[in-house]
Amino acid sequence: MVVGLGANGSSTLYHLSRTGRKVIGIDRFTPPHTHGSSHGESRIIRQAYYEDPVYVPLLQAAYEEWERLEKASGKKLFLKTGGIMLGDKDTAVVRGSKLSADTHGIPYEYLDSTSLRQRFPAFRPADDTVGLLEKEAGILFPEECIRTFLDQAITQGAAIHYDELVLNIVHDKNSIEITTTKEKYSVGSLILSAGAWTNQLLSGLHSSDAMHPLASLPLTVKRQVLFWFANDNAQDHDRFLPANMPIYIWEYTEGKMFYGFPDLGAGIKIAPHHRGHSIDPDHLSQDVSQKEIEEMKDIAREYLGMSPVFQKSAVCMYTNTPDENFIIDFHPEYKNIIIASPCSGHGFKFSSLTGRILSDMAMGNDTGFDLSPFSLTRPAIATASPSLQK
Ligand SMILES: Cc1cc2nc3c(=O)[nH]c(=O)nc-3n(C[C@H](O)[C@H](O)[C@H](O)COP(=O)(O)OP(=O)(O)OC[C@H]3O[C@@H](n4cnc5c(N)ncnc54)[C@H](O)[C@@H]3O)c2cc1C
Repeated sequence: MVVGLGANGSSTLYHLSRTGRKVIGIDRFTPPHTHGSSHGESRIIRQAYYEDPVYVPLLQAAYEEWERLEKASGKKLFLKTGGIMLGDKDTAVVRGSKLSADTHGIPYEYLDSTSLRQRFPAFRPADDTVGLLEKEAGILFPEECIRTFLDQAITQGAAIHYDELVLNIVHDKNSIEITTTKEKYSVGSLILSAGAWTNQLLSGLHSSDAMHPLASLPLTVKRQVLFWFANDNAQDHDRFLPANMPIYIWEYTEGKMFYGFPDLGAGIKIAPHHRGHSIDPDHLSQDVSQKEIEEMKDIAREYLGMSPVFQKSAVCMYTNTPDENFIIDFHPEYKNIIIASPCSGHGFKFSSLTGRILSDMAMGNDTGFDLSPFSLTRPAIATASPSLQK
């Protein structure tokens, strides 16, 4: 059983259903939906990964999986636009992307501000801004990706139950008993890919012989807002079209970033990265204040040189670990339960592969990847979780 059918769970169900095993997926809503972490029309995918070169082999495999899914389904899931990482040459975004590209031989161009202005008039870089341009980067369409995973999983024999909330999980010696708002199930193996609700589910997980819940993981759920703006000067709009504007992440002040997309039809999408406050995922509201809109407009004016006219917004959640690396691991005590998906705001692009990895783990196969950076026993997680310190 896969609990949670967002980016990671829908992909896992798709990969599991290819094995011919009996699989069931459950979600409290009807994905794709706007209550979790996977909505908002577009997600960045790139390989010169500023976060850490350790992710690059995973990204290369994720690209192959997205391509495979596109071929199998005939759906358009990815748009190649190229991608630019912008900032002062010493920023984490620029330095880290260069490190990943150099370490793994990813082709790139390193552009100074003059070349940036000439080639990408969408941007208004300061004189000391540089950009690392990666041709293979682009945009995934998250709602279509999830819909496609689920449609394919159904075609391959998976059962899917929507609008069914998992309330309680009891680990027995021979099986796992799951109680939902609608039914009780007994399954042999369970994958928890509940995103922002991971701790809520873990607190409902018990063992039949020792009625103790697993202590919650050190996760912080943060509210993140996405904004779409039109340019008031309609004559000056071509520079924001996908043919002329790559996706970008801009570290405009040390440690502060925003990122964005060209206009795919609804305006230019732009958002701050890792800025929101902590929230309870059960109380996610789509309300956005005028102050937040004005702050984002100021950024769009200064760095994109546009006259922004607010079109719409969306509110989403990052589920952050202390080191911002993922969690993909077996439950420390129950090897037939796998915990995945706290993705710290950068997991969508990997989800085509994460599902394959989770499926392999559940089937007892070698995943082919070193998953130690994502383990529950790494210091960043274990030191904050007393129950994981053995
Ligand atoms: C604003 C924003 C921008 C982002 N931009 C990027 C980007 O550009 N590139 C990138 O790679 N990543 C990006 N990310 C991160 C990426 O989108 C997430 O890491 C990823 O979508 C998380 O997927 P998930 O499967 O873990 O969670 P979700 O997709 O939220 O899925 C969790 C599912 O679990 C279900 N669920 C929870 N509890 C229960 C229960 N008790 N019973 C049944 N079902 C349950 C929920 O209904 C939900 O459908 C962004 C995230 C946000 C919020």
